[in-house]
Formats: sequence, structure tokens, C-alpha cells
Amino acid sequence: MRFKTVELPYHVYIGEGEISKLGKVLESLEVSYFLLLTDSVVKNLVVVNLRNELAEWDYDMVIVETAKMEEARKIMLQSGFSDYDAVIGIGGGKVLDVSKVVSTEMNATLISIPTTASHDGIASPVASFKENGKPISISTNPPSAVIADLSIIRNCPIRLLRSGYGDLISNISSVRDWQLARDLVGENYNEVAASIAVMPAQLMVSKADELDLTLPPHLLMLMRGLIMSGVAIALVGSSRPASGAEHKFSHAIDYLGYGNGTHGEQVAIGTIIMEFLHERHYGKGNWELIKNSLEKVNAPTTAKEIGLTKEQVLEALMLAKKLRKKRFTILEAINPTKEEFELILSKTGIA
Ligand SMILES: [Zn+2]
Repeated sequence: MRFKTVELPYHVYIGEGEISKLGKVLESLEVSYFLLLTDSVVKNLVVVNLRNELAEWDYDMVIVETAKMEEARKIMLQSGFSDYDAVIGIGGGKVLDVSKVVSTEMNATLISIPTTASHDGIASPVASFKENGKPISISTNPPSAVIADLSIIRNCPIRLLRSGYGDLISNISSVRDWQLARDLVGENYNEVAASIAVMPAQLMVSKADELDLTLPPHLLMLMRGLIMSGVAIALVGSSRPASGAEHKFSHAIDYLGYGNGTHGEQVAIGTIIMEFLHERHYGKGNWELIKNSLEKVNAPTTAKEIGLTKEQVLEALMLAKKLRKKRFTILEAINPTKEEFELILSKTGIA
């Protein structure tokens, strides 16, 4: 029998005041010397309050300026490739992505301490950078520990929480794409990873009527879902459970450089479109449920709200069909025409 070794976060803490567990986590992971990466805002708002937690540890702190490969290299050079046992990333996507690359390159344990809940990169083994204005993904090791302190995350802009919600519910259409690939082209499908990715999303969508992302139990649910997305990705060693055609659409927008939407806002609108296609062609999917739930949390559901025109959305959809063709999705299955996309945009009220 053959088993595959997978790396998953060993310590996961989500809740109020959980940052106080940092010392315990460091001890358990046998860390004696670490590199702390953060940004200047988080340093002044969060890291300053960690004096007690950090006092007895030997560490260096570096401020992350940009989410680029070059930045990760610069940090490694600056630190003289010291013998860190761990890299601790405290911050949003930019800091965590750079932390993932630095810890992987330096062969150090990663401890992820998110200060936002804007996407599922918190616990995933993938770093997303923009190089020369174009999005790229880099495979990294997953974090060994994730400490999500809701009393810190609650203070991030509400738009980021709504974006995180969008990225979470996009798992509904990405898992549907995965099932389509299993059924039509015989792709390997992992039921456990698919369930881990999709169940928290379905739970939140089903509760959409009462959702308020600032309420502690709902924020907890969101955070748990985003971390589980990352775990699902780590489990199969691919973003498959959390990235389908709706992500291709978002990547296309990024390539074209259109609009002002966040990752989560773009994939959420993509999810409405792809759910429509699934429903229309295969009788599975519920775009109205997705749209209603986004409206309930006040996330954008129209092109205009994220600075896109109808023509730009259509161009992005046509480009999405050409991206990453090997990842079989609803776009590869039915190869929709521009006219069909136009019809969907008008029926869903997106543009
Ligand atoms: Zn995503």
C-alpha cells in the first residue's frame, strides 16, 4: 500500500486573545531563534502589544514592504541566511505570502498569525505575488501553526472580511468544477479535501439570512472556513479544492489590470457566473443563493461596484477560457460563447 506524506498545520488556534498562545506554540515546536516578519502598520498596532509574549525569545524583526519574490530574497540576504528555526508572519496577505517563501527557502518552520480574513492564503501552501503587474503563484510549505486572534482580526477593514467571505464561498463552484473534471475527464478527486473546502462555505451560505461578519461566532466561522480551505489545498498539494473557473476569471481580471476589486470580490462575482453555467448545463448549482448571500453581507455583486464595465467583464471571461487549460472546469466543459456570457451577465444583474 502506498501512502503520501502531507504536511498540515499542527497547531491551529482561532478565538479571542489566542495570540497569548504564541509562547506555548514556540516551545512546542522547539523554536529558539526566529525571524519575525510584519509590516509597519501591524508593527505599531499589534506587535508592540506582544512585548510580554516576545520578551524571553531571541529573534530579529524585519518589515515587509511589498509582496514580491525580490522582497523575499532581500530579506534572506539581509538576515545573512541566519539559522532561524522559525519564521513568524504577523500581518495580512502580503506579509504572510513573503513569510511562506522565506520560511520555505530557509527551511524554517512557519507560524502564520493573520491580522485579516481576506482570503484563504492564511494556511495554504501557496504564495501569490504580482511580478511585472502579472499574478504568479509559488508553491511553499504550509504553516506549522496558525494563530488567528479574533480580537485582532475584528479590527481589519470590513471590506476585507467580505472579501474573505467571497473567497470562501467560491469553493462551492471550484469543488463543482472538480467533480465535473472527475466525471468527464476522470481526474483524481479527493472526497475529504473537497468536503473540507466546501462544507464551511455551504454552512455560511445556508445561514446567509442572519450573517453579520463582525459578530464573534460568524467571524469565527469565516476564519475557520478560510483555514480549512488552506488545509484542503495542503492535503492534495494543489489549489484544486479552492480554485476553479471563478478563480480563472479573477486571474484574467488581474492580467488585464482592470477595475479595483479585491481577490475575494472578483472570485465571488465569478462564482455567481460559474454557478449559473453549472445550473444551466448540468442542473447543479444555485447562482441566486450565492448572489443573495453576498448581498446579505454587503459584498459587491455587480461589475460596476468593483470598477468594471460590461465589456471588461466579457473580455476577462473570454480570456479566462484560455488560462490554465489543464485545470478542467465548466469553461473547458462547455466552452461558452461571448453571447452566452452576455446573457448571464444580464440575467444575474452583474452587468
Ligand atoms: Zn482565492
